Amino acid sequence: MATAERQVRVACPDCGLVQRLPLLRRGHIAECRRCERLLAGAATGRVEAPLALALAALLLLTPATIEPLLSVASHGAARTCWLSSGIAGLWHEGFAALAVIVGAFCLAFPYVYLIALILVLAALRLGARAHLGPTFRWIMRLRPWMMLEIFLVGCFVAYSRLRLVVGVQVLAGGWCLMGATLALLLTLTQLDERTVWEVLPLRRARQYSRWHSDRRAGGRGDPGRAIACTACELLVSDAHAGGACPRCAAALHDRKPFAFRATAALVAAGFLLYIPANALPVLTLVSFGNEQSNTIITGVLELIRNRLWPLALIVFLASIVVPLLKLCGLTWMLLATYQGSPRTLIARTRFYRLIDTVGSWSNIDVFVASVLVALLQFGAIARAQAGAGLTAFAAVVILTMIATRTFDTRLMWDAEQGEMNRDA
Ligand SMILES: [Zn+2]
Ligand SMILES: [Zn+2]
Repeated sequence: MATAERQVRVACPDCGLVQRLPLLRRGHIAECRRCERLLAGAATGRVEAPLALALAALLLLTPATIEPLLSVASHGAARTCWLSSGIAGLWHEGFAALAVIVGAFCLAFPYVYLIALILVLAALRLGARAHLGPTFRWIMRLRPWMMLEIFLVGCFVAYSRLRLVVGVQVLAGGWCLMGATLALLLTLTQLDERTVWEVLPLRRARQYSRWHSDRRAGGRGDPGRAIACTACELLVSDAHAGGACPRCAAALHDRKPFAFRATAALVAAGFLLYIPANALPVLTLVSFGNEQSNTIITGVLELIRNRLWPLALIVFLASIVVPLLKLCGLTWMLLATYQGSPRTLIARTRFYRLIDTVGSWSNIDVFVASVLVALLQFGAIARAQAGAGLTAFAAVVILTMIATRTFDTRLMWDAEQGEMNRDA
């Protein structure tokens, strides 16, 4: 499906600059001319490819849920682990919040995301376009919280640790999980949001009409200042602030409401919880009566001791470096915004994009623990138990992920223009 053959005017979601998107040839990309954010990717214009890949991912995810992923054997006893076993294991050990988190991120959200995406893309392919906006907005909002690929890496870390103590075998469900994850990642590379948004109709189009800076294009009177919908990037006149977006029904605001205060509160809570998350044990391993409690850092040292260098590096980066980068990075951005500093704006915006992209990978440790708790249950011979530090750690990860979403990078760029609004 080709995007309409005309130049589209967009506001950069990161710096707010309103600019014309050039007409792109297939495979070309467009970046914001002020902050270098990718505005249009190489996948622009396609609906069939992401639809086919999403169908393949769903078809593989179903056996990955029904069939067992891994089996372990130790001293004549054997255990198998399903995608749902870790959730049940955490629940039975009294970690209900963690069970809900793992269940939502690794099981419920991937299904909801894939089914909803398939329905929307299939409807577009068949020419039905009405009322799809709000559904597609929720699909896009769900994306950072769907962590199938992170769960797969978590399974791999757990597999490598288990092999040190017991015999482990990958079963049919495990192979299907790898296939489903690969198909899902390919779906995401082929899915271009703007392609979908541009073909969706506006409700009450006459009342809203798109924002045009020149009157020849807009046709009617003073267009006012443009505000961009934070979900679908539609440009409308600021006269509509406070109303609902005519395309995706999100609330229209010039800047995200309470962005500064909400982010500051979430970052402060994240710093407070970072202490128990690192001081308390996240996992206790019992082997032949020997009890060994691991904190996040001793878990990494354990991997190094067993010469699992690549895994130690992944867990070190995901569990120790990334949460600190997020907390310190957001603090830096908040302080610079508060001071109205016009310096390092591009660097800060790039850094924001980095922490936004890698933020959810910190959940690896939570997923590793869920698999180990499900599989390593051989009484006194070998047993794994989750620790209180894991709940604090998961809370840090989730709070910083929400903080990244509540922060509005455009506030930093407003500061450059002396428009900063501290009550935003
Ligand atoms: Zn920009
Ligand atoms: Zn919208």
